[in-house]
Formats: sequence, C-alpha cells, structure tokens
Amino acid sequence: MTVHVVGAGIAGLSAAVALLEAGVDVRVHEAAPVPGGRCRTYHDPQLDRRIDTGTHLLLGANRRALAYLDRLGARDRMIEMAPAAYPFIDLESGRRWTVRPTPGGLISAFRPVALAALNTEPGEASWRGLASVFGRLTTERACRAWIARTGIGDALVEPAAARLGDRLVCGRRLARVEIGGGRAQALTFAADRIDLGNDDRVILALPPTAAAPLLPGLAVPSESRAIVNAHFGVVARALTPRLIGLTGGLAQWALWRGDVISATVSAADRLLADPPEALAARFWPEMACAFDLAEPMPPWRIVKERRATIAATPAMERLRPPARTSLANLVLAGDWIRTGLPGTLEGAIRSGEAAARLTLA
Ligand SMILES: Cc1cc2nc3c(=O)[nH]c(=O)nc-3n(C[C@H](O)[C@H](O)[C@H](O)COP(=O)(O)OP(=O)(O)OC[C@H]3O[C@@H](n4cnc5c(N)ncnc54)[C@H](O)[C@@H]3O)c2cc1C
Repeated sequence: MTVHVVGAGIAGLSAAVALLEAGVDVRVHEAAPVPGGRCRTYHDPQLDRRIDTGTHLLLGANRRALAYLDRLGARDRMIEMAPAAYPFIDLESGRRWTVRPTPGGLISAFRPVALAALNTEPGEASWRGLASVFGRLTTERACRAWIARTGIGDALVEPAAARLGDRLVCGRRLARVEIGGGRAQALTFAADRIDLGNDDRVILALPPTAAAPLLPGLAVPSESRAIVNAHFGVVARALTPRLIGLTGGLAQWALWRGDVISATVSAADRLLADPPEALAARFWPEMACAFDLAEPMPPWRIVKERRATIAATPAMERLRPPARTSLANLVLAGDWIRTGLPGTLEGAIRSGEAAARLTLA
C-alpha cells in the first residue's frame, strides 16, 4: 500500500509523519517550491532577515501540536513562555497591564485572544468556535504561549521535511483526480500521472479553494479572513522573545524576536486595499510605543495573507466537511475540515493525524 499525501502544509506533513512512523510507504506531493503552506519561514531580501509568513503562536492547550514537536524531536525549537502572563498596552492612554490566566483575567483578554484564535470578530464568530478555544484554557499551563525560537517553519516544517526526505516532492501540483467506481483511480500532475493500485490511498491536505475543484460535489467553506503582519528589521537586544498585546490602535499583537519586530492584525480584511507604505507608517509608531523605542522606522515588510483561515462564523462552521469523502480510498485533511477547532495549527495537526488513522483502518 502507498499513501499519497497531496499538500505539504502542516496537515499533510503531520499525516505523512504519522504514516511513516506506522511503517507505511508514503509519498507527499506539494505544488509550491517549498513545504509548509501558510506556516513558513523564509529569507526576506528587503529586511535581509528570516521572517515567518505571520507570527504563529501555540498554546499549552495545543496537545497534539506539542506531541507532533516531540515526535520530530523539535520541542526545543519552541520557547514556552512560563508562567502564563500576557503584557498589554493601551495605545490611546499608554496604560500597561498584565493578563494572567485566572477566569477574570481571561475575560479581560477575551477580544484579543478570541481574535487571534478564530481570525474572526468575536461578534460574528460561532459559539462553538468560541467554546472550542476558551473551553480548553482550563489551567495556567494550557494558557502558556509557545513561540518559535527562530522561525515557525524551523520548528514545525523543516524537521518533518528532513524526516520525509525524498518522499516529499515539491513543485508537483495535483491537476486532477480521476474518479470511477466510487474510488479515486488516478492522480494527474502537470508532467505525469499516478495510477492508484487497489490498496493505495490518498489524503488531500489542500486548502478548501484547491480541494473543491478536484472533487465534484464537495461543498467547502467559501469565506475566509485575512491576517496582516508588519515585520521590521531591528537590532537584536534580548535573548527571550517579547510578546505584547495591544488595544486602542491598529496592531493587536507585537512580537520582538531576535532582530525582527512583527505586528499582527487578525480579521484584517479591511486593510487589504491599504498601500503597504501607509500600513508600515501606522504600525511603526505603535511598535515603538510598545517596546519603548525612539528610533526612526527601520526597514519593513508588510505581508497580507488574504485567505489566512476560514471565517469562524456559524454559516462557515456548517460547511466544514468531515474527513471521509464519498470515495472509498480518499480522505481530506486541513485546518478547515470538521476538526472541532478553529483554523489553527492544532486543528491542522489533528486533521492530519486523523486522516492517517483513517487510511490505515
Ligand atoms: C499569517 C498567519 C498567522 C497565523 N497564526 C497562527 C497562530 O498563531 N496559531 C495557529 O495555531 N495558527 C495560525 N495560523 C493558521 C495556520 O497557519 C494554519 O491553520 C495551518 O498552517 C494550515 O495548515 P494546512 O496544512 O491545513 O493548510 P496549508 O498550509 O494551506 O497547506 C496546504 C498545502 O497544499 C498545497 N497545495 C495547494 N494546491 C495544491 C495542489 N493542487 N497540489 C499540491 N499541493 C497543493 C499548498 O501549496 C500548501 O502547501 C496562521 C495563519 C496565517 C496565514
């Protein structure tokens, strides 16, 4: 039996690693030149520094994500911010305070935490989505932030890609799934085609916009939300990353890690049309205020992820499909399928591991 995993985002990688560990012959086909999908670290020539697609945090409550890191021997590529304490600044008044994980503390941080986890304004988010986040924040440990030591791709992607070796091939876009007799019969790529044997299985670990055209009749969540990040190249000052929540301005979170300061705005569709120069000029004074910096704006890069995650609204929740499809030998994975969690790394990893289990069942 060969399992073909299509898509090397975190969902596909976690599926492939689980299958490899189970001794299965696994092949991963990725369209982009590099693996990681929405969760990547790369060299930005404008800053001459490595940056993440956007700041990615894990929480102590993300058990499968932490177990995935353990599997790859990569937990030390993340830093556990302990004890859980989230400094905040209000940009209008300059007031600073720290949110600690007591029930009252969590409520005061409700909006920033809900926005970051759901990438949807809390007012339009589904109750189920809100409950799936806050219902898991039951201990101080569960509330701790985990931040990648150097880059999120260095922690979650590179160790998996190294483990997979030449079983992972990039630059291979799946163009068509040939279907017959209630099964996937063949996978067609630009340059070749793979005929599937009776025992072979397929895991489609693609974003919804890529999965829907390949599987006729598959209804997928159609609305997504953007995340905008501003990265500034600065002088490295502290060894430990500093994470600050912001209210009363544009940025919602600021992370100073090494020689990069990154500002994050979730549910950021209203900013998509704004020119990058204008955004950078708005973000920098906020970062300077958060970190007490007097210097002029350093080199910057604005990254707009248009479809960062699906919208966590009740209407989109209803459209999330289960992993099983009508095809006996093909299952879905991805942060957008019915995982019981918002579109997050934890959700992607759970979906990948569940897809791997289904192909082995
Ligand atoms: C800016 C930003 C910040 C975020 N912050 C956080 C955070 O702090 N915490 C958190 O938990 N989550 C965060 N997320 C969400 C997290 O990144 C995603 O949930 C996760 O990466 C999704 O993984 P995935 O494998 O499901 O999908 P993807 O990463 O989209 O992977 C799908 C892969 O399929 C490939 N592909 C597409 N079409 C084809 C084709 N036809 N053939 C072959 N391959 C194809 C793509 O190139 C891609 O590599 C953030 C996301 C963004 C964008």
